[in-house]
Amino acid sequence: MTTSKSIAILPGDGIGPEVIAQAVRVIDCLNEKHAANLTYEEAPFGGAGYDLHGSPLPEVTLDLAKRSDAILLGAIGGPKWEAVERSLRPERGLLGIRSALGLFSNLRPAILYPELADASTLKPEVVSGLDIMIVRELTGGIYFGQPRGIEPTDQGERRGYNTMHYSESEISRIADSAYKIAMQRDKRLCSVDKANVLETSELWREIVIEVGKDYPDVELSHMYIDNACMQLIRAPKQFDVIVTGNIFGDILSDAASMLTGSIGMLPSASLDENGKGMYEPVHGSAPDIAGKNIANPIATILSLAMMLRSSLDRADLATKVEAAVRKVLQNGLRTADIAGPNDKPASTAEMGDAILAALE
Ligand code: NAD
Repeated sequence: MTTSKSIAILPGDGIGPEVIAQAVRVIDCLNEKHAANLTYEEAPFGGAGYDLHGSPLPEVTLDLAKRSDAILLGAIGGPKWEAVERSLRPERGLLGIRSALGLFSNLRPAILYPELADASTLKPEVVSGLDIMIVRELTGGIYFGQPRGIEPTDQGERRGYNTMHYSESEISRIADSAYKIAMQRDKRLCSVDKANVLETSELWREIVIEVGKDYPDVELSHMYIDNACMQLIRAPKQFDVIVTGNIFGDILSDAASMLTGSIGMLPSASLDENGKGMYEPVHGSAPDIAGKNIANPIATILSLAMMLRSSLDRADLATKVEAAVRKVLQNGLRTADIAGPNDKPASTAEMGDAILAALE
């Protein structure tokens, strides 16, 4: 019998609970049919946390996340909480948990399943076979830098300001994480920055080169963020692993996700220094389709697969889950977001049913 592993389940808001419900069915199936020995416990997070406990990251939730082996998150946010004071908004819960758990390394694979080549807005020959890993620094840079704020000026108007900074240690640990991932792949790493304009990027580039001395087998290149955006659309298959800071990674990874056709297909991981992580679909809470049972649960189910491989040491189960998803796509089942004009779209639960059947 394998040792038991615990998962904190944070369904969140909008379509979060709907897609998480399907991932939980997959966990149950892995326990029942594949002796996975996974335990799990749920806690409110984001808007749901605010509604129940007055905070987007309630103490019970943070406590559960800290004592679990890994965390599976649905999505947070929505119009219901837009008028809430800024420090209590759902998005603050997300920044808070990343910071409290030291989840500094955000991995976002962008893989195009051959079955979905037509779902991309780019020509199939440009994207077919695409397999990129974007490694984004997640707990530093301009999203966290102090000072920040909006203040009155002497001229009688207001001024908004933020601060971008990265220390040497912050850069070297994310660079190290990215080199390690490159070593497991095609051994090509592209570091994206804006070193022609920003001092922060100048230091970033210097440290990434320095850390690279420990990884002589990895071919390192550098690209400015504006060019990287262009290249990602023009010839995305030139990339293997991309490493970049918080704000550039936010933009690049969303752009990369669209290369694959649907944001409903893409998983992500945020890891700490010991490989413990929070796993979540790349998409948000999709208030426009929440409650309709039409959201694509695959991104969340693939996030669970990433968790099994990267944090729970169960690559065997991860492969089973990924193969089940692949089989369902090969059989032609599609939720609305990836459906072609002649497909009858499957519901969230029907997609879950099919993946479970393939897994059994
Ligand atoms: P979104 O990702 O929620 O939705 C963008 C579009 O993609 C929508 O048309 C939506 O219907 C569609 N979509 C998203 N996920 C889908 C799925 N699984 N299946 C089918 N279609 C899907 O982004 P948004 O509209 O910019 O943001 C909505 C809310 O989500 C906001 O409150 C935002 O702050 C929050 N958000 C949360 C996270 C997170 O929890 N990590 C990430 C991004 C946005």
